[in-house]
Amino acid sequence: MMGVFRRCWKQVGAVRRYIFSPRGLAVLALIAVGFVLGVLVTQVWISDGSDGDSASRSSAGAAEPIATALQSSIDSGAASDSTESANEQLPTDSTSSESDGNQSSTTPGAGDEATATVPNEPLEPVVVVLDREPLSYETALAIAAGLAPQTVYPSDCMSPLPRPDLLPNAPRAYRFGIHQGVDFLCFSPGRHAVAALDGRVVLAVGDYLDPDPDDRDELLEVAGDLEATPPFTLLSLYGNYVVIDHGVVQFVGHVVTLYAHLHEVDPDIRVGQTIRAGQRVGEIGNRGTHAAANGDFYVEPHLHWELHINDQYLGAGLTAEQTREVYTTLFSEALG
Ligand SMILES: [Zn+2]
Repeated sequence: MMGVFRRCWKQVGAVRRYIFSPRGLAVLALIAVGFVLGVLVTQVWISDGSDGDSASRSSAGAAEPIATALQSSIDSGAASDSTESANEQLPTDSTSSESDGNQSSTTPGAGDEATATVPNEPLEPVVVVLDREPLSYETALAIAAGLAPQTVYPSDCMSPLPRPDLLPNAPRAYRFGIHQGVDFLCFSPGRHAVAALDGRVVLAVGDYLDPDPDDRDELLEVAGDLEATPPFTLLSLYGNYVVIDHGVVQFVGHVVTLYAHLHEVDPDIRVGQTIRAGQRVGEIGNRGTHAAANGDFYVEPHLHWELHINDQYLGAGLTAEQTREVYTTLFSEALG
């Protein structure tokens, strides 16, 4: 019995000597340093991305009463869980963990926290107002005179100049608006529309589908209720059409022309291509009109042609007589 006790005492002494030997102390110091490092790393890991839910939850668990901790974990719910799982995947990217938290705000109970951290204010509406004064008669006349030397007649059909109802500013009762272009009446099919000036094709609609006559009437009824033709309704009335950008002409402005109601866009026309004054744009027809909606594609073919200066049709705001003078000046060289 005493022998066993003595052997045990001997073992304890050996352990005590080992512990207090330099080697034993070094091992103890290593264990202590490892423990301290472990605690520090854990703290850093918890506080990473902690500006949101996980911090409040961990602090609640450590210090707050159990009831508060429970309430806190219910409130943060799935949001904090998903935030933590996001942190595991991307521990250094706090931005992505925030956005993940927002995405999970649709989870019931998570909405309050998400709206508290990221204010969900409505976006400011962006309002673009094209508040442009119409050109004065003198300016419009000067622009027409400036363009005249380069302008060719866009069709070989009847001259619209003697008839105010074929010129811009004529009322268009059927769509509760005013005419913005010039109508060249052709009286027979197979006539050609040509580019009025050198430019570049920016739009070509060659596969227009005419609406059912009743649907077309309903579109126009909406225009009646508004007492104006909405821009996209107006587009639907052009049929097949081509738009040519003539660039910025010195002392004139940005010039664009439009060729509408085409029976067919010329097969050689491609968007982006340059085009010369007089080059064929397409065959004049009546697509987009009431007759075409009824299936009569050869009734009253005419070219609806528009000239825009800085996104405003030439003649806007002018009287009928002034408009006629402006367009007579524009085509003075073309007519010879
Ligand atoms: Zn017209």
